[in-house]
Amino acid sequence: PNDLTPSQYIGYDKFLGGLLLDGFDEVSCQSRYQFARYHKNSTRIPSSYLLERLRRQEALQKKCGPGTKSYKQAVKQLRSHQDINMTTDCNYLFLTIHAGLGNRMLEIASAFLYALLTNRILLLDRYQEIDDLFCEPFPGTSWLMPSDFPLNYGEFTQSTPESYGNMLRNKVVGGNTDRSLAGSRPPYVFLYLDGNYEFHDKLFFCEDDQQFLQGVPWLIMRTDMYFIPSLFLIPSYQDELSRLFPEKDAVFHHLARYLFHPTNNIWYSVTRYYRSYLAKADKTVGIQIRIFEKEGILQKNGRFPHVLEQILSCAQNEKLLPEISMTGEASPVTKNNRTIAVLTTSLSSWYSDQIQKRYSEHPTVDGTKVEVYQPSHEEYQRSKNKKHNMKAMAEIYLLSMTDVLITSGFSTFGYAAQGLSGQTPWVMFRSESHAVPDPPCRRAMSIEPCFHQAPFYDCKAKKNADLGKMVPYVWHCEDVSWGLKVV
Ligand code: GDP
Repeated sequence: PNDLTPSQYIGYDKFLGGLLLDGFDEVSCQSRYQFARYHKNSTRIPSSYLLERLRRQEALQKKCGPGTKSYKQAVKQLRSHQDINMTTDCNYLFLTIHAGLGNRMLEIASAFLYALLTNRILLLDRYQEIDDLFCEPFPGTSWLMPSDFPLNYGEFTQSTPESYGNMLRNKVVGGNTDRSLAGSRPPYVFLYLDGNYEFHDKLFFCEDDQQFLQGVPWLIMRTDMYFIPSLFLIPSYQDELSRLFPEKDAVFHHLARYLFHPTNNIWYSVTRYYRSYLAKADKTVGIQIRIFEKEGILQKNGRFPHVLEQILSCAQNEKLLPEISMTGEASPVTKNNRTIAVLTTSLSSWYSDQIQKRYSEHPTVDGTKVEVYQPSHEEYQRSKNKKHNMKAMAEIYLLSMTDVLITSGFSTFGYAAQGLSGQTPWVMFRSESHAVPDPPCRRAMSIEPCFHQAPFYDCKAKKNADLGKMVPYVWHCEDVSWGLKVV
């Protein structure tokens, strides 16, 4: 289209370095082939081994997916509730879904990589509007679990006896149980990996436990986290992960660009908004504002003056936005015709109104014009509401299209945007005691998301340890000191 700046439509790589396959129907999912048009070419090139493994995974998804003979066979076996002694080519990882959109994207990417590493087919809970949000990523098959799936997974909780943690706790598996000695496996295991999981649940991240799980035909996983950093700490996966991702800090970046393609409705609203408000600016700055603080008597409706000051100091100190001239006028020498479009996202409209007000009441010192846009203000989170989630998805993509990104620490919404974009963001830390932190923001170490509740158990030494010091490429996160991230 003519309203994109030249650099945005000359030489863009529609297939994202080979991540995407040709041959999908373009009309039914336009974002798949238009993503590159609205994003800078990535400086990260997917490895040829990653491409090879994606193609192999696609073949496996097709061979064993819903409707196939193998799938029917596997479901029949699951219904019979009998232990399994033989192995098959078709093993499954079923991901249940419940969290906010940023979390969902992180957990789907994590589950997909785990499925790929363990040669499983990834299937997703069909009842959580996944198909309203995302197009199917695999050719010739579906990643949605058919509705005839026999287990009542909606009722699975941390205390479900078939959860791996409970099986270990109750000694149903592990050690010298009859089952382990006979080499037989339960037909399915439930993996409870939500943030409040406990010691036995977390043994999922140990090598021996991975070996046991390898032989279980169905894994049903519940998680709300980006657990990939801990996969990098499991010795038997390390070589494979290094081959897949020679640039380790681009794992989510490639997986997200491969897996997630917003449906046409969302994509139209994203591109319409982009063309109306962002395309013509000389520079675009995305500011993702996520407030986790508790509201008090003085702060209502998510309005925190110190957060507003934090945003402005961050943007101005780091020269992402021009300073405001308090003398009243921009000096005539520095007047220019530049425009910066700021895209803010937040549940509240107050921050963008305030930022806009500051820039409209005073000129900037260098004469640059600053315009502020915010697509929605939903006031509060409603993760079960379809329209609400569609707006959130659109905003994650809009943020990922901006030239410069400022995010709120702790927030998976921001992680998803930074990963899609490939731009290292400036992260605003959560403030203590309602004061602006010093510095107000810092450049992130990498574009990878943080694994918030990462385990801290050293499986080999059988004791707690600092897992942020085991390998040079997994560190503690800048925004969540106990979390882990790949750098
Ligand atoms: P996190 O809680 O910040 O880690 O991010 P999640 O995306 O997992 O959950 C927050 C949810 O709140 C989002 O999915 C949206 O439903 C909603 N939300 C939070 N911030 C925004 C925002 O800036 N814009 C919109 N539209 N929704 C938001």
